[in-house]
Amino acid sequence: MGLIVCKFGGSSVASKERIEQIVRILRMDANRRCVVLSAPGKAAASDAKVTDLLLAAVDKALNRQDYAEPLAAVKARFAAIYEPLGMAKAAIDAALGDLDSRLCSPANHPGKFRDLVVAAGEDLNSRIFAEYLNSAGFRARYVNPKDAGLFVTPTFGDAQPLPEAAANLSELKGICAGEIAVFPGFFGYTADGDVATFSRGGSDLTGAILAEAVDAAEYENWTDVDGIFCAHPHMVDSPAQISALTYKEMRELSYIGFNVLHEEAVRPVMRKKIPIRLRNTNNIANSGTLIVSERLPDERDVVGVASGGGYCSFTLQKFLMNREKGFGRRLLSIFEEMNLSYEHCPSGVDNVSVILDQGQLKPETVNNIIRAFDDKLAPDEVSTEFGIALVSVVGEGLVRKVGVLAQAAGALSKAGVNIKMANQGSSEISMIFGIDASDEKKAVNALYQEFF
Ligand code: ASP
Repeated sequence: MGLIVCKFGGSSVASKERIEQIVRILRMDANRRCVVLSAPGKAAASDAKVTDLLLAAVDKALNRQDYAEPLAAVKARFAAIYEPLGMAKAAIDAALGDLDSRLCSPANHPGKFRDLVVAAGEDLNSRIFAEYLNSAGFRARYVNPKDAGLFVTPTFGDAQPLPEAAANLSELKGICAGEIAVFPGFFGYTADGDVATFSRGGSDLTGAILAEAVDAAEYENWTDVDGIFCAHPHMVDSPAQISALTYKEMRELSYIGFNVLHEEAVRPVMRKKIPIRLRNTNNIANSGTLIVSERLPDERDVVGVASGGGYCSFTLQKFLMNREKGFGRRLLSIFEEMNLSYEHCPSGVDNVSVILDQGQLKPETVNNIIRAFDDKLAPDEVSTEFGIALVSVVGEGLVRKVGVLAQAAGALSKAGVNIKMANQGSSEISMIFGIDASDEKKAVNALYQEFF
């Protein structure tokens, strides 16, 4: 196999033992020569993530309060991880000194200041880890994203990679030929030379950008779970693990309930059809879940059942609605003008529903939406419903198979779950049911039993 880009998430770098585990993983395959690291996350449930501690320090600094406490906590986390590995305290302190200077830099642009400080979690971790790898007998090199050309938009806290980044980063292949490149996740540099971070969880995106740039044979994403399951373990007892699924299936599953990978991380690897493999740092024996552009058809048409709550619907009835030109455009423009995004818009001959995430609504919004319906659409009747859960059955096999909708609806009816809305996406790889939130667990279990 060619070059493997491995990204290790926060929990995979959270303790001395986890760092030793990474070293074991790197020794197992000499192709693992491009490593992307997160900042240390939680080793124990009571730990704070380094990124959260840094955010707390930023908050205090911006409000002219004393940030000594979160700063000391960050330093203590790094010391607790790397000192027991035999690294000299002076070397760790030298790296951590950078944090003090970041916190003393001008804070007149809060976004810039925030990103500069928060990115230190990944940056310092990568510097110290590269040094540790060298002491453990590897040839490793910390790579600074600025030197490597990971340029991003100046949208602080939500940066996007610039198109030229991929070409610049392809030079990393040279480093990886002779050494392990250790690259900090989560941030890049703007054209003006400022640090700008991606949104939370963005180290996944760094790994994906690098995998695309170096034409990786595989992008391994190491976390603390074995992979993706056919249903959420909070909903179904010991669900089966998915061995392989396609990028599209993964997108549909992550849309409701499966937050396995940063949303934006799929695009770069998808462009080059680079397989992503999700793996568990603490369970190397499990080969994880593979995400690819095309997979072998297996005996199952459905790969997973996802669900999520907190949706609401607005349903309009109007006689001869189907003949009224521009009705749909005017309807959706009401939501757009109120800066609301919608999820689904199933329709009948004389009725249409708009389903959205209830979390976006303010107390006055519902009233204003209905008022705008009256003004712009003159409906005969409007009804609203809150506390809807969406349950989705996902699988590329749905395109080929006749009767899956009937099978799913039958399973829900047998379990006594009332279907309020059914929507089969145009891609035909997912089927979404709107149900009462109190039925969510029952519905997921019924569908899981039916298809697995
Ligand atoms: N450390 C950052 C976060 O907690 C980025 C990451 O881990 O991917 O969001």
